[in-house]
Amino acid sequence: MKVYFLGTGTSQGIPVIGSDHPVCKSTDSKDKRLRVSVWLSWEDYSFVLDCGPDFRQQMLASNCQKVDGILFTHEHADHTAGIDDIRPFNFRQGPLPFFAHSRVIQNLKKRFDYVFETVNKYPGAPSVTTQEVVNNVPFAIGNKMVTPIDVLHGDLQVFGYRVEDFAYLTDVKTIQESEIEKLRGLKVLVINALREEPHQTHFNLKEALDFITLIQPEKTYLTHISHLLGFHEEVQKKLPENVFLAYDNLEITI
Ligand SMILES: [Zn+2]
Repeated sequence: MKVYFLGTGTSQGIPVIGSDHPVCKSTDSKDKRLRVSVWLSWEDYSFVLDCGPDFRQQMLASNCQKVDGILFTHEHADHTAGIDDIRPFNFRQGPLPFFAHSRVIQNLKKRFDYVFETVNKYPGAPSVTTQEVVNNVPFAIGNKMVTPIDVLHGDLQVFGYRVEDFAYLTDVKTIQESEIEKLRGLKVLVINALREEPHQTHFNLKEALDFITLIQPEKTYLTHISHLLGFHEEVQKKLPENVFLAYDNLEITI
């Protein structure tokens, strides 16, 4: 399976609009981070996790030509605001399956009501089917099974997803023991690490590293990164062995 990091930035992306912060002014392409998302592909299958406001740009940069479905972690705008741009896939393939918690589906129905319109729907509007994700109920994407991982982003429930020996967890602040058990024996873990300072709803770097020590994956990639974490090159040097800062357009094979 290929894992392509479409975006690795926190909600504002890097550079932040109007910011004079040195990381926002960096000329290193690894310091430019679109909103967080990954693309999983294997054989003829292709699935995207989250659909933030940079979705169109990400599909172009990665040359993604087909999407079989989108798995949502939660409803926040940096993970959902790109939904209108699924239309090229609709025109080529038909309705796109969305996998999400029932609360997230309800939220999308409210915010993107025109997508879900059943009477007199505009013919060019995006078209989707929905499949509810329920914790402790694995589901299929293509010929692989996905295990939902239930975590908390402050007070908000968020789903992470495990596909075989790969797990993707973003916007985590707390995780219960029962969910940690689902993360044993990973080859690759992707986990959020916002910055060094603590944050109310996100792991900071120390919390992410402690979590990695607990889970013991073979390799870990950090994502959902703020410009406040620092320059990619400098932060990477400080990380333990087998822990890497993800960056946009990084592709790994598992
Ligand atoms: Zn987020």
